[in-house]
Amino acid sequence: NLSDRLGGVFDRLRGRGALGEADVREAMREVRIALLEADVALPVVRRFIDAVTEKAIGQDVLRSITPGQQVVKIVNDELVEMLGGQGHEGLELDVKPPAVVMMVGLQGSGKTTSTAKLARYLKQKHGKKALMASLDVQRPAAQEQLKVLGEQAEVATLPIIEGQQPVDIARRALEASRLQSFDVLLLDTAGRLHVDEALMAEMNAVARVSNPAEVLLVVDALTGQDAVNVAQSFSGEVPLTGVILTRMDGDARGGAALSMRHVTGKPIKFAGTGEKLDALEAFDPERVAGRILGMGDVVSLVEKAAATIKEEDAEALAKRMEKGQFDLNDLRMQLQQMNRMGGLGMLAGMLPGMKKAKAALQGSGMDDRVLLHMDAIIGSMTAKERANPALLNAKRKRRVAAGSGTQVQDVNRLLKMHQEMGRAMKQIKKMGGLKGLGALFG
Ligand code: GDP
Ligand code: MG
Repeated sequence: NLSDRLGGVFDRLRGRGALGEADVREAMREVRIALLEADVALPVVRRFIDAVTEKAIGQDVLRSITPGQQVVKIVNDELVEMLGGQGHEGLELDVKPPAVVMMVGLQGSGKTTSTAKLARYLKQKHGKKALMASLDVQRPAAQEQLKVLGEQAEVATLPIIEGQQPVDIARRALEASRLQSFDVLLLDTAGRLHVDEALMAEMNAVARVSNPAEVLLVVDALTGQDAVNVAQSFSGEVPLTGVILTRMDGDARGGAALSMRHVTGKPIKFAGTGEKLDALEAFDPERVAGRILGMGDVVSLVEKAAATIKEEDAEALAKRMEKGQFDLNDLRMQLQQMNRMGGLGMLAGMLPGMKKAKAALQGSGMDDRVLLHMDAIIGSMTAKERANPALLNAKRKRRVAAGSGTQVQDVNRLLKMHQEMGRAMKQIKKMGGLKGLGALFG
């Protein structure tokens, strides 16, 4: 996992103000490996590393996170940017109807399935009246396949006429769309096993008669490096407007997405995430970036932490912790911070490898209400009790429980947790102080 690796690289430079060139270059070696493992094509990796290195060198390290986390964040931001930035660009269907969407790609890439998914999507999300037509006369049952999918998706398909050639089918589909006032016409073209001249000639002929508003290249994300070659050949031959990346539900690590974007220069508009017709999603650069780096949502956790934790608070707390003075006021501050950051579930959900911890928390009945209860319990104590929990005898505990609407056992549980945290902190102090905590996040 990249975050672990970078944590290692940056262990030695805790406490320094800015990211130095040598350290950044060393970290980039790890980033490079992570990208290659995610199946990003080599030229794309190089360009990416150059861009990130330039951005990272000399950046100040936020005080609330470690340099390793900071680099992960820079890497992540750049990845998101290269994958298309925030928000997806959607389809450009604002033309005189019917807006023609042409699907192109190799055989087996998922064109026919994606055609039906997209038609269903446009119908359900945008209320479009869509017609689908299969121009695949290569494979015997291809047109029948689209018809069956159309029935499942409740989207019309052009009636099949045996023996008709692709360009003629396209013409007939256009005519039918005009006559029956369809908003969108989706053309599912034939693929080949390899890119060849006949395939390209056919696609171009179809494009000439149908004047498509969108030409979407359908690529199988699992083919990794190969997908790049495919994208390259197609984008040199037909005027692509976007990409659909299928089989993102497989174990592809998303590297194809980065390469695709780089090679075609066109946005990835949708991701196929399964065989079912509802398994189509607007492409989400942030999610894919996280997947490429294989780091859960560490980055957003880092961002939230940086935004939420006031530096002064953190520093004062650090001093108190190191002196062994962590009292219930400090605990309360921590609980409130946790709440601001989205509660226990969010915390557990974001850290990699924390799934188990989350399950354990849920199993123990510990949820976000518990955070609020704890806050109420501490709120019902006197200032003296908060500073010195040892004062809390049975009688005082009963008062606090009554005051906070909880049970004495809840008060006890809180005190026990505080004690355990105190013990853990002594441990951390032995390991090299609070900054050592950063390692837990990396
Ligand atoms: P075409 O030859 O390009 O038209 O490809 P098809 O649409 O016929 O798809 C080939 C196979 O891939 C079919 O079995 C589909 O169910 C499957 N498939 C398509 N898209 C996805 C996807 O996003 N995820 C998964 N798991 N399977 C997909
Ligand atoms: Mg097909």
